[in-house]
Amino acid sequence: MTPPRNDALNRVVEHLERATRVVALTGAGVSTEAGIPDFRSSEGGLWNDLNLMVSLSSWGFRRAPGRFYASILRLLPPLLNAQPTRTHYLLAEFERRGKLTTVITQNIDGLHQRAGSRNVIELHGTYRRAHCVDCQHAYTFEEVQSKIQQQELPPRCHRCRGLIKPDVVLFGDLLPSEALARATEAVQQCDLLLILGSSLVVYPAADLPRQAREAGARLIIVNLEPTPYDHRAEIVIHTPLGEFSQFVGDRMGMNLQPLGAPPQ
Ligand code: NAD
Ligand code: ZN
Repeated sequence: MTPPRNDALNRVVEHLERATRVVALTGAGVSTEAGIPDFRSSEGGLWNDLNLMVSLSSWGFRRAPGRFYASILRLLPPLLNAQPTRTHYLLAEFERRGKLTTVITQNIDGLHQRAGSRNVIELHGTYRRAHCVDCQHAYTFEEVQSKIQQQELPPRCHRCRGLIKPDVVLFGDLLPSEALARATEAVQQCDLLLILGSSLVVYPAADLPRQAREAGARLIIVNLEPTPYDHRAEIVIHTPLGEFSQFVGDRMGMNLQPLGAPPQ
């Protein structure tokens, strides 16, 4: 007899085959298989280290920028070593095939773009850019990294000596309004919202599934642990995303390893 999980996976494939305007909403769970810890997994989630979370907040940045950067330095190696996973490649392939219009991500790691996704809305910003909090001068990650390597901690603006802040949304920060507006528009126009690897507790991103539903889209959730939206979804699968993406990719005739990509 076929296990029930395969039933659900087959139904996901049927929905994906029928859908014409898929939007993906992704969270930190799409990148754990790339070695980047998420926040809220019961095991290995960074949330278990409260001091770290406080130092990475907007308040922590203003009050103790040196400690903020020390925490960033702890998190940087896995971020810099990460390679896109099958799930990132799956979404890029859906976009290439004209099935998926947009990836809305809460991640700051840039892995969707590296896998080939083009229309990516980074709701929580990116670690690739930074700016001076006083004169707003923009800095690349490499420029900030070079200041850190020269022991300039916290790194400061060469123009006005203001603090440099990464362009990521910290706890206590507002979301970039333009990204949120684009995300809202995308979910209101999709026929299927594929929600992957998000605990769906961080607002306003966590409100996007409700908006999609109200505009008539179906929801599919793939996440290891339950989410507050499970009861409103067409299909919910609690399975590792690597397995999910392998299954869907195989069934839809995709080769998810582009030439030259490292084996996973
Ligand atoms: P989260 O940490 O709150 O939730 C991640 C969810 O993914 C968990 O429910 C977990 O069960 C699930 N998960 C983990 N590994 C999985 C796997 N292999 N297969 C299936 N499910 C898996 O993440 P969130 O909802 O994105 O919200 C938290 C915030 O974390 C976001 O604001 C984001 O900016 C930030 N964040 C980003 C990164 C990143 O860029 N990679 C990493 C950590 C945190
Ligand atoms: Zn400045």
